[in-house]
Amino acid sequence: MSAAADAGPFLPAEHYRHSGRLGAGAFLLPLTAVLAPLALGYVYAYMNVYVTADKLRALAAMAYGAALGLLVFWVSKKGKCRNNLFVGSMGLLAGLAGVYAAWAGFIPVLFSKVNVPSPPSYLDCLSSPAALWDTVCEIANVGWFTYSKRTVKDLELWFFWACEAATIVLIAAALAYWLARDLVFCERCLRWCEEQADAARASLPPGQELPELKTGDLRELAERHPPTEPLAPYARIDLNMCRQCNNTGTYKIVLVEPAADKKKEKLKASRPFLMTPANAPLLGKLLARKNAPPAGSSPPPPAAT
Ligand SMILES: [Zn+2]
Repeated sequence: MSAAADAGPFLPAEHYRHSGRLGAGAFLLPLTAVLAPLALGYVYAYMNVYVTADKLRALAAMAYGAALGLLVFWVSKKGKCRNNLFVGSMGLLAGLAGVYAAWAGFIPVLFSKVNVPSPPSYLDCLSSPAALWDTVCEIANVGWFTYSKRTVKDLELWFFWACEAATIVLIAAALAYWLARDLVFCERCLRWCEEQADAARASLPPGQELPELKTGDLRELAERHPPTEPLAPYARIDLNMCRQCNNTGTYKIVLVEPAADKKKEKLKASRPFLMTPANAPLLGKLLARKNAPPAGSSPPPPAAT
């Protein structure tokens, strides 16, 4: 009797969801969301004032947002926080604090550059939001940099600043949220599962739709061998397993349409499905075939006419 038959009638596989527990992230994340921008904000302000190329300046804003988002994600992982919404909110908070710290750093750095006598310190600006706001409004009235040989000021400068702030906040929040969403946690061993991409492959006929991306059904895929043609479409299995108990885990089904130019390869991935006693034997079968040569029983591809 085959493993597919043993598994009985197929019940749609369940998607994995975090438990929602905050772990040590409950206090580590708010701390990070406030402290990280204080340190990085000044560095960003320095780049903002001294980097003159527009594209580089835009890249610096993206890099600043990404650094804040990555830091929040990293701390959420260390603190075993299993709540995407909380991690995303802390990314948002880090982004907002990041914008504030960037402005607080911008004033002393700019004033030193243009030799304003006794400029306020970074700490002065951080601790006096009202004075900081007044100074920023004054700078908006006169402008501080040129674009296409004219000074950017007033509404145009405010628009520029709004775009810069949105870039920082959105990238920090989205990055923290998306990265945290991709993790799998074993509540039994209290540890993160480990990712094993491309754990198995199953060949597909050209142009085949893959409803399994929605259902997680592995019965038909488990009967298929790895692809032998380099450019033939195939289904790829990515695993995320607890290496301690080997019991908790998820799998993603990825539809891969290879192309001669690797950059043009098309990928379509399912959300992670929970591994259950019903689908584990089918996964085992797929994994066992990964390095095995194709069985003699598989028919040769039809000759082109
Ligand atoms: Zn475990």
